[in-house]
Amino acid sequence: MQGLAQEALLELIPFAFIQIDLEGKYVFANAKYTEMTGYTVKELGDTKFWSRLNTPDSRHKTMALYQHILTHQPEPYPVESSVRHRDGRLIHTRTLWGYLRDKHQQLTGIMFFVEDITQTKAIDTSLALSLQQYRDLFENAQDALLIIQNGKFVECNQATLDMLGYTSRENFLTLTPSDLSPAYQPDGQNSISKADEMMDIALAQGSHRFEWEHVRANGEVFPVEVTLTPLTNAAGEKVIHTVWRDLTELKKHQALVLKQAHYDSLTGLPNRLLLLDRLHQRVNEARRNHQYLAILFIDLDNFKIINDSLGHQYGDQILQEAAERLRTVVRGADTVGRLGGDEFLVILSDLKKPSDAEYVAMKVLEQFNRSFELKGRHFMMTSSIGIACFPGDGEDAGALLQHADMAMYHSKGEGKNRFHFFTKRMNNNVQRRLQLEGQLHGALARNEFTVYFQPIIHLDSMTVEGAEALIRWNNVALGTVTPDEFIPIAEHMGFIEDIGIYVLESALAETNLWRQALGRDFVISINVSPQQIKTAKLFNKLLDIIAHSPLPNHLVQLEITEGVLMIADEDILQCFAKLKDMGIGLGLDDFGTGYSSLSYLRKYPFSTLKIDQSFVNDVVDDEADQELVNATIAMAKAMGLKLVAEGIETQAQCNFMKEAKCHLGQGYLFSKPITSEQFIMFVLSFNTQNSALVDAH
Ligand code: C2E
Ligand code: MG
Ligand code: MG
Repeated sequence: MQGLAQEALLELIPFAFIQIDLEGKYVFANAKYTEMTGYTVKELGDTKFWSRLNTPDSRHKTMALYQHILTHQPEPYPVESSVRHRDGRLIHTRTLWGYLRDKHQQLTGIMFFVEDITQTKAIDTSLALSLQQYRDLFENAQDALLIIQNGKFVECNQATLDMLGYTSRENFLTLTPSDLSPAYQPDGQNSISKADEMMDIALAQGSHRFEWEHVRANGEVFPVEVTLTPLTNAAGEKVIHTVWRDLTELKKHQALVLKQAHYDSLTGLPNRLLLLDRLHQRVNEARRNHQYLAILFIDLDNFKIINDSLGHQYGDQILQEAAERLRTVVRGADTVGRLGGDEFLVILSDLKKPSDAEYVAMKVLEQFNRSFELKGRHFMMTSSIGIACFPGDGEDAGALLQHADMAMYHSKGEGKNRFHFFTKRMNNNVQRRLQLEGQLHGALARNEFTVYFQPIIHLDSMTVEGAEALIRWNNVALGTVTPDEFIPIAEHMGFIEDIGIYVLESALAETNLWRQALGRDFVISINVSPQQIKTAKLFNKLLDIIAHSPLPNHLVQLEITEGVLMIADEDILQCFAKLKDMGIGLGLDDFGTGYSSLSYLRKYPFSTLKIDQSFVNDVVDDEADQELVNATIAMAKAMGLKLVAEGIETQAQCNFMKEAKCHLGQGYLFSKPITSEQFIMFVLSFNTQNSALVDAH
């Protein structure tokens, strides 16, 4: 291979070419080689050819390879390596060698054909890289990615298997898309024909996204969002790229948000928003179909007291149970929901006649005639209902609701635990109520309240035992308002605590004046609203006021109604015990009208029982009332309680009570409630009058 002709020939080879001697030194390098490395043979001089190579490791390997070639002269094969160009660039090379021999076939050197593969290498690397990236993306995607060809799956990622619950990709790929869908989609369409339809849209539009239901391996049907994109692959075949996104969580979340917006979280019933929306719809339907519709506005009685005294947690329990009970009284087509607080609404659609609502109202009342159990104790919690009917009581949802609310208030005013249909007259009552509420603000500060006293008479001796303090309200705009009318409102507005303290303080002071003026004792009875003793703190405040008044404790008696007793907890019971220890009397007012549970009489330290005036009224003519009064008196005696007959208006009633051995009486027969000064006059004249009577006998 010597000679200029040969060298010239070697320059024509499209590769870099070098000739190396047995020691590894350059003998010849063509111009291509010089171009590739930046060095001429001259410049390379005596260096061993591997010293041009890139890393010590590759130099080492090449040196070893060269030794191997020399000693074993193997069949040549391409070797990839890299050289450093003079300017620092790295050149990737693929090299093939050939043996140079003399005429005796003796090895004289090795020739290398060096191909610069830097470019191809770069393309290969970037191809491999993008393939890797694509695989990573494909395999690690959260969504199921699939390729469908001719109606069959040809590729899917791990997420597909996870989502559908398959472990083997091979097995999965044998399935067809229809194997993974239930027979019908939620809209009732057959899955197979609907899938074809979706595919047609995708082909027409270039891509199509829609919701679908699939079946997991365990049979569970679940919602997915499908995106179909028809494409042509590198081989020119039509394929469908498919993405399935599992919507299970999203749907759950959506349902929850919807529920939260429309349902009351405490009771699970439709909330105000949904109720009003339904009412609106039902009214429109009723108008279109010429049907009747009725709504029941339900408010729990005394809920506020339970909630305030036992705590919200127990209040919540009551509301939940109340919701349960209400659910049982409506038919499937009707709606029961919570308007807020302790207010519920029942919508009854498609009624034959408006009065059919009465039946449901009675069922509701019945539901609340069972006691509620809380903290292992039983509480009575009745309900008051107002009914409004379409079309008679209102043309739209708003009017109906307002009128049902008025009717409910009417039921409250009539003594609770009842229902009333709306009447036009109630509109006036509501006006009145609003007026009262307006005027009650600041009434105490404006000194509009006075305390009147109604004498209580010892029936046997016909002497004045004492009096009951009864509040009076005189307002410039409203005139005189009776306590029956304003006390429930004052309770509702939270004013009763301050008003109550005013009554207590005035009554104690006046009674002390009578003692001083008349030189003898009187027992003063003061009405106490449940709100005033709902917490031990409030209760103790009353006891404190009594303790600090100059009047001896045993001359003071608090009158309560049974409403209080249903809710008294341990703290309140202790207050009652304290009251007894202090020698303060406790009277049960209006006996015979409420639940009249004898267990209350045993549990609380009552000293007095007041027979409600409704019994006293009829006692002369009504045998049932006579029996009840006689039984009550006998029972009270057995329990060591004093008895007061309320509302004695006639001599006959007085005589009956006297004979029945009822100790005390109170009523118009003796005196109406009067001012403190009038009371003093009354005592003076009553005593003379009666001593005159006694004298006359
Ligand atoms: P109550 O405690 O049962 O009081 C008796 C009511 O019967 C009084 O009505 C009294 O005027 C009336 N009355 C007395 N004798 C007769 C009679 O012979 N015939 C008739 N028809 N009625 C008679 P008043 O003063 O209107 O009080 C009504 C209710 O208001 C009271 O019923 C009591 O529950 C409440 N109340 C009155 N004052 C107060 C107060 O200061 N605080 C609280 N919390 N409630 C009060
Ligand atoms: Mg009373
Ligand atoms: Mg009474």
